[in-house]
Amino acid sequence: MVSRIIPVETFDLVVFGGTGDLAKRKILPALFKRFCFGQVPDGSKVVGAARGKLSTLDYRSLVAQALREYGGEMAQDSEKVSAFCEHVDYVAVDARGEGGWTELADMLSPDVVRAFYFSVGPGVYSDLAQGLQRHGLVADDTRIVVEKPFGHDLETAQALNRELAQFFNESQIYRIDHYLGKETVQNLMAVRFGNMLFEPLWNAQYIDHIQITVAETVGVAGRGGYYEKSGAMRDMVQNHLMQLLCLIAMEPPAQFEPDAVRDEKLKVIRALDSVQPHHIVRGQYTAADGEMSYREDVDNPRSKTESFVALKCLVNNWRWAGTPFYLRTGKRLSARDSEITVVFKDTPHSIFGPEAGQHRNELSIQLQPNEGITLNVTIKEPGPGGMRLINVPLDMSFAEALGPKLEGTSDAYERLIMDVIRGNQTLFMRDDEVEAAWAWTDPIIQGWEARGDVPKPYDAFGNGPDDADVMMRRDGREWRGLDK
Ligand code: NAD
Repeated sequence: MVSRIIPVETFDLVVFGGTGDLAKRKILPALFKRFCFGQVPDGSKVVGAARGKLSTLDYRSLVAQALREYGGEMAQDSEKVSAFCEHVDYVAVDARGEGGWTELADMLSPDVVRAFYFSVGPGVYSDLAQGLQRHGLVADDTRIVVEKPFGHDLETAQALNRELAQFFNESQIYRIDHYLGKETVQNLMAVRFGNMLFEPLWNAQYIDHIQITVAETVGVAGRGGYYEKSGAMRDMVQNHLMQLLCLIAMEPPAQFEPDAVRDEKLKVIRALDSVQPHHIVRGQYTAADGEMSYREDVDNPRSKTESFVALKCLVNNWRWAGTPFYLRTGKRLSARDSEITVVFKDTPHSIFGPEAGQHRNELSIQLQPNEGITLNVTIKEPGPGGMRLINVPLDMSFAEALGPKLEGTSDAYERLIMDVIRGNQTLFMRDDEVEAAWAWTDPIIQGWEARGDVPKPYDAFGNGPDDADVMMRRDGREWRGLDK
């Protein structure tokens, strides 16, 4: 199969924070890969903008170095890298100062798609928005891309939305959650809404419960300052896990269009019950295998910030009444493993008798480290010995099933940046969605703070605190193992 590259219009993309970690590891490699696949039209420009005084040549060599490091195999071809760098420029701009804006304005073309990627700390988003307006850089269809974290709580998210709304319409603001750009996350919608097979069963009558896990082996070293003020709840649950929950739980939108999809996601968040304190477990990793503990990593021996959260929540609507959703995320766990598992109910009656055994169907959508979908179905164990039932996976590992067809497909940042250029907001969060997610998260965090709650220590490279297992066992269920 030849990969289908949908052409985009010529564009100018300005990356504020163009010398930062995210630009080097994700944004520039994503643009480079799209360039290699012919999706950066002639005349398009990528302008790095940051505080440092660099010449364009210096910046191009910084970009080339970043591509060699993070751009994969294609970036080892120096001709391709040089050709890409021909599209790259640099301007020194301090979001909070006056210098550099005129030079930036001179670099941009008046009649191409224009987008500004705010890959800087959230403290300067509003300075950038003001600076862009003040210097006449914003037209009606200019877009801005805003990175996470979008606010620290409901109040700060609302304030940020208000500030951005002074300078941009909602249709110009692209709040990025890179989980939504993952191939499998979109496949989740294809599986649900492109097959007759699943949707009739997609409700409380047939589904026992749903688990969403985002497990990481890394700790917080290097990002300790940020993480200590955030914790797993703000860093992962409020955004990434919430978005996955929405896509799993939402009603079929009338069309695959930005507001139709986002309206349905919003309804899910608004239908979430508040979480009971005994339905949530917080943890903090301890030292192990020569690695430091969380408290050492953040240099705070009394830290009460969680590096792990497991919780049970209920979506209070007709479709999901009584079906729990279990969410779990943490650092320094035994494996890097992100997946959503839909566990179906037992058949109402087993015609084969108790000795045959009984298994449940499970649909598992893996996001990391490999993307794929597995459906566990029950069959007869082959061979003599009567009717014994076993579960076997109908496996759809994308790498195996699609092989070379995957080559032209894009990763999350590639897809999302190209969606910005196309002007498609379907996979970006709307203002009311972000605020609703904070409105649900805030009381949980405020409850911890009011009670002086201290997270439970858990072994580094284990499965999180025992209490998370106890919470599941109380419900007669268990977590899926983390795949090593
Ligand atoms: P970083 O500290 O590595 O880089 C920050 C960049 O912003 C630098 O280029 C710096 O020069 C520029 N900058 C800072 N203040 C500025 C100012 N006043 N005017 C102009 N430029 C200024 O940060 P990062 O890790 O690249 O993160 C950037 C943003 O992306 C943050 O909002 C962060 O939360 C978010 N983010 C980062 C990651 C990641 O993996 N690094 C992941 C998700 C979200």
